[in-house]
Amino acid sequence: MRKFGFKFFSTNFQQAPETITECAEIASSKEDIFMEFTAVAVTTDEEFKKIKAAIGNIEVRIHASYDGFDASNSELFQRNKKILASAQKAADIFDAKTIVVHAGYGHGKKHLEEAGRQFKLFNDERIVVENLPYYDNNGDEMLGNMADEIAYIRNESKCGFCFDFSHAICSAAAQKLDIDKYLQSLFLLKPTVYHMCDGNIPEMKDLHLHFGEGNYPLKHYLNDYTDENAYITMETGNGFEQSNDLRLKDYNYLKAML
Ligand SMILES: [Zn+2]
Repeated sequence: MRKFGFKFFSTNFQQAPETITECAEIASSKEDIFMEFTAVAVTTDEEFKKIKAAIGNIEVRIHASYDGFDASNSELFQRNKKILASAQKAADIFDAKTIVVHAGYGHGKKHLEEAGRQFKLFNDERIVVENLPYYDNNGDEMLGNMADEIAYIRNESKCGFCFDFSHAICSAAAQKLDIDKYLQSLFLLKPTVYHMCDGNIPEMKDLHLHFGEGNYPLKHYLNDYTDENAYITMETGNGFEQSNDLRLKDYNYLKAML
């Protein structure tokens, strides 16, 4: 059974706790919903425990903050470890099985080798490296977009892999590569978890559109490029939406495509 994840930042709980608790109530009435929290560095252990108490036994997955994080830069190793530590602490509190981590910035061998080295030193089997777009929305080069790069980091560190469809499509578009071949090459790596939203091919920007708002062939992606027991976080929406209506709509949209 595929499971679908509602996505939040840890700071959203302070902004609107009722949104999170309502989401947990929805999740507890279904057997195929989980939640993914991005561990924002300002969130304290006490705050994470409060969130845990509020949502009960809903399964949680963690995303590490990428603000200031770049594993391809040797000078940032200590800072990277500190940013990762707050995600690891959150994963401990929620007993999360996976922590999504971005490799960082830059293209080429030097950046890739440093990222592989740092991921190995992070030494946490819950880490899943996420494939990134070729460029971020500011035009900066991002590391870890091709299947062979993901495979390299995974081999070096024994981490897992988070397959982000929109990042892959943006990366293929930026490099003028065949999208389906690109997605297939990533799916062949046997992803641990998945991220999905809608978007507009051949747009190179990750738009985080709600399902049905873009032109992605989602039925094809969902059925052909996700495992039947996949954990799929729905990375839809820009900014924090306090109403859960669109979250539920997105969940029902994907379910109807299976
Ligand atoms: Zn993602």
